[in-house]
Amino acid sequence: MRKKLRIFFTLAFAAVALAVVACATHGAVRAPAPVASRTVTPLIPGTYIEEVSGFKPGFRVEVTLSANRIENITVLSHNDTVIIAQAVIDSIIPTIISQQSTAVDVVSGATLTSFGIIQAVQNAIAAAGGNPADYWAPVRSSPQHLSRTAIIDPHGTPRGPERTPRRWDESHDIVIVGGGHAGLMAAYAAANNGAQVLLIEKMSFLGGNSLITGGQMAFHDSRIAAEAYRRLNLPPDTAEQHIRDTVAGGDFQSFLPLVENFVHAGPFILNMLLDNGLTVREHITMPGGHYGFRVYGTTSGQGDDVIEVQKRMIERAGIDVRLNTKMVRIYREGNQSGRAVGIAELPPFEWTQS
Ligand SMILES: Cc1cc2nc3c(=O)[nH]c(=O)nc-3n(C[C@H](O)[C@H](O)[C@H](O)COP(=O)(O)OP(=O)(O)OC[C@H]3O[C@@H](n4cnc5c(N)ncnc54)[C@H](O)[C@@H]3O)c2cc1C
Repeated sequence: MRKKLRIFFTLAFAAVALAVVACATHGAVRAPAPVASRTVTPLIPGTYIEEVSGFKPGFRVEVTLSANRIENITVLSHNDTVIIAQAVIDSIIPTIISQQSTAVDVVSGATLTSFGIIQAVQNAIAAAGGNPADYWAPVRSSPQHLSRTAIIDPHGTPRGPERTPRRWDESHDIVIVGGGHAGLMAAYAAANNGAQVLLIEKMSFLGGNSLITGGQMAFHDSRIAAEAYRRLNLPPDTAEQHIRDTVAGGDFQSFLPLVENFVHAGPFILNMLLDNGLTVREHITMPGGHYGFRVYGTTSGQGDDVIEVQKRMIERAGIDVRLNTKMVRIYREGNQSGRAVGIAELPPFEWTQS
C-alpha cells in the first residue's frame, strides 16, 4: 500500500497554548471603533481618481466616498506584476472597506503595491476634505492570528510540536510545499503520474520569486528550435555544450548527474509549456556564461507568463491548492533523520470585522 504524506495542523496544537497567551495578547490589540461611532471630519461625497506608485509608477485607483464612509475602491490600471497586484487587490480592498480603516496589514511580498493602494485611499480622503487619520484605526486580528503568536519559539520561528503526532489531520499521496516554478512543475508531474496532490503556499498568491524573474530560460533544443535557428541564421546548440557551460557557470561545484538531467529534460519541459500555451519571443540569445544560442525569453520579459501557464496546467490536473498556508515543520522517520512522513502547517488567519 502506498504510504501517504500527512499533515498536522499547528492550529489544533496551539489551541491549549492559545488559552494561556490569549489574555495578554488580546489586550494589546485594539479593535477599531465602528466608523459610525468615530468622530470623523465630514467628507465631500464623490468619486476620486488617484494616481500613486505601486511597485512601479502608474497605479490609478478610483475611490468612492460618502460623507463618512469609504464606499468603494477600484483599481483602474497599473504596471505592477499582474498576479501579485491582483493578490493585493483581492485582500486589501475588501479589508479597507469592511474595517473602514487604512491601517490594514500589507500583503507580504507585495508591500509596495499594498502601500500604493493605501496611499491612494488616504489621498482621496484628503482630496474630499477629510482627515486621513480618521480612517487609521488598528484592526483586530482573528484568534487564528493569536495562535500564530502562541507557537513562536524563543528564536522567533513558528513551529509545530517536536514529536511526530500520533494522529494526523489529513493524509495525501504527495504534499508539495511552495508554488513557484519548481513546486508547480513537481505538483503537475506527480498528478500526471496518478498521485493525489496537495500544494500549499504560504503567500496569498502562487508564483513566488519565479513571478519576477527575467523570464529567460535555457534549453539546448525545443520543437521550435530548428525553424528559429534557420530563420535567425544561428548555429544549433548541443546538450554537451549546455552541460559544459552549466558546470563551468557553477564554478565546477555542480552535481553532474543533476546537471545532465536538467539539460536533457529541458526540451521536454519547454515543449510541454509551449503545448500548454506559453509564447516566447522570436530571438534565441547567448547571454554571458553561455557558449551556445539557447536562451528563450517570455513575451512579458518576466516569469509570470510561465506561472500563468503552470497555473492553468495544475488547475486542469485537478490539484488541490491551499494559499496562505505555511509549512512550519517536517516530520521524518528515525529521529528526524530519515524520509519525510508528514508536515505541520499553519493555516491562514483572517482579519475580523470591527
Ligand atoms: C530578480 C530575479 C530575476 C531572476 N531571473 C531569472 C531568469 O531570468 N532566469 C532564470 O532561470 N532564473 C532567474 N532567477 C532565478 C529564479 O527566480 C529561481 O531559480 C526560480 O524562480 C526558483 O524557483 P522556485 O520554485 O524554486 O522558488 P520560488 O519561485 O521562490 O518559489 C518558492 C515558493 O515557496 C513558497 N514557500 C517558501 N517557504 C514556504 C513554507 N514554509 N510554506 C509554504 N510555502 C513556502 C514561497 O512563498 C514561494 O512561492 C531570478 C531570480 C530573481 C530574484
